[in-house]
Amino acid sequence: MKSEQQQMIAEIENEVRYTRDMTGMDRLDPRVMGAMRDVPRDMFVPAAMRAAAFDNGPLPIGHGQTISQPYIVALMTALLQIEPDHHVLEIGTGSGYQTAILSRLAAEVYTVEIVAELADGASQRFDELGYDNIKARIGNGYHGWSDHAPYEGIIVTAAAPHIPMSLLDQLKSGGRMVVPVGQPHGHQELMLVEKNRQGEPGIRSVLGVAFVPLVDR
Ligand code: SAH
Repeated sequence: MKSEQQQMIAEIENEVRYTRDMTGMDRLDPRVMGAMRDVPRDMFVPAAMRAAAFDNGPLPIGHGQTISQPYIVALMTALLQIEPDHHVLEIGTGSGYQTAILSRLAAEVYTVEIVAELADGASQRFDELGYDNIKARIGNGYHGWSDHAPYEGIIVTAAAPHIPMSLLDQLKSGGRMVVPVGQPHGHQELMLVEKNRQGEPGIRSVLGVAFVPLVDR
């Protein structure tokens, strides 16, 4: 691991401790931190941004979109409590970085991206890195990906005005969904939805966040 990546890991751990009163976690699952060590974030940012690839902040990836902050990626992944036999749905592939992290922990990751150029770029990276348990699709992820439902985990990496019902329908009983909810440039909260064995959802707000909007067209 490069020293910049080591520094990124240390900064994530610091921010986790700093936010523990809100998130209820003072350390993240070591498996999640292992994936953050394994996946080369510099492969997921545009060439012009390489020098900042291991900064603990979001970066522009073109088309008005961003690769999420490493701390947020780690936190959202940890909240899903992924097991090796899980099938996970991601909405908003973007650079594919979050997808790659998920793929190190789950059996299969299904990811949907609405901007074709971003989806193509991400798929190329998955091939180059040999991450072969990812299925990617171009389309509007607002309605999920029913072909492979239900999922033990669902992650939305763009902010929705409310929790999308079709995604909730595609979540397995006992499953978890993380989704930023709020207005495009206003107040947003990262929500954790847990569906109990009876299929009833429980919702808790984890943290204030800032995501690009989930578009519905
Ligand atoms: N996880 C990504 C985050 C990218 S930003 C990363 O770390 O790189 C959010 C992404 O969601 C953008 O690429 C945007 O194009 C995509 N997006 C927005 N609305 C969408 C929708 N309805 N369906 C699928 N993708 C969507």
